[in-house]
Amino acid sequence: MKKVLITGAAGFLGSHLCDKFIKEGFKVIGMDNLITGDLKNIEHLFKLESFEFYHHDVSKFVHVPGDLDYILHFASPASPIDYLKIPIQTLKVGSLGTHNLLGLAKAKGARLLIASTSEVYGDPLVHPQTEEYYGNVNTIGPRGVYDEAKRFQESLTMAYHRFHGLETRIVRIFNTYGPRMRLNDGRVIPAFIGQALRGEDLTVFGDGSQTRSFCYVDDQVEGIYKLLMSDYAEPVNIGNPYEISILDFAKEIIKLTKTDQKIVFKPLPKDDPMQRQPDISKAKSILRWEPKVEREEGMKLTYDYFKSLSKEELQRSEHKDFSDHNRK
Ligand code: UDP
Repeated sequence: MKKVLITGAAGFLGSHLCDKFIKEGFKVIGMDNLITGDLKNIEHLFKLESFEFYHHDVSKFVHVPGDLDYILHFASPASPIDYLKIPIQTLKVGSLGTHNLLGLAKAKGARLLIASTSEVYGDPLVHPQTEEYYGNVNTIGPRGVYDEAKRFQESLTMAYHRFHGLETRIVRIFNTYGPRMRLNDGRVIPAFIGQALRGEDLTVFGDGSQTRSFCYVDDQVEGIYKLLMSDYAEPVNIGNPYEISILDFAKEIIKLTKTDQKIVFKPLPKDDPMQRQPDISKAKSILRWEPKVEREEGMKLTYDYFKSLSKEELQRSEHKDFSDHNRK
């Protein structure tokens, strides 16, 4: 039985990856420090012999007994609200955490896939974004802690690949959505659906002309799996190129939720990218992958998930208190 370590296992993407690797017959070790992750996302796996969970912060030395075939590094805060609340942890997990996992991969002879992001392109001046684009990032802005940690993570990973001959893979993940997103993480999809379900107005930032391209989680996970199993070490964009403005998206949500909520406009956050759309030519040609789930279908599944949450969960829109973690 092949063994895989998945960091950030209790998070949105991490938990779906745990499901995928269990389904593919792997022994899965999930690791998470639970700052932004939630055990509820993986509690259904605890009864399985093929699943183990380690409560650990990967910014500190990572010890895993026995053999390891693969490592997927998905631990990181991943929403603008989280970066503001835990900026130092965000920098550490992308830099020190990645260094620890590269060291572990080297010691075990394992293949490591790191989760990078479209944020490495910053507020892009090239559209759609190809892997060759170097990006337009404000190093000291509010998103800098995430963007620069991920850029450093990519450099460090390529250095281990080139210098130590380590088998590495880099996925650049574009906006992804689906069940198990955190309702209070501030991201646009849980924000809009939460507002619609609570009967509040939908808050569009700026004039809503900024665009995003949303990928359903099952497509994302399939792309990541194919990349891990490929022999391609350079970064690959995985996302859905179907682009929409945030204002049109808010209107879609009002239609989907059959509410008569109003749209209200709030100031655009600093460094909010104006447009984002992945060029997925590489994923198509190298991995033979492209997204299959249309937004209408994916959004319905996501809405059903949020509707199934209890009233208390829905009302609990305040954010976790991260103040302790900032000092660590
Ligand atoms: N956004 C919005 N209202 C909200 C939350 C987000 O208009 O209540 C906008 C945000 O300004 C951005 C887009 O939606 O332009 C996507 O935001 P998200 O935080 O989901 O992802 P990211 O900016 O990292 O792509």
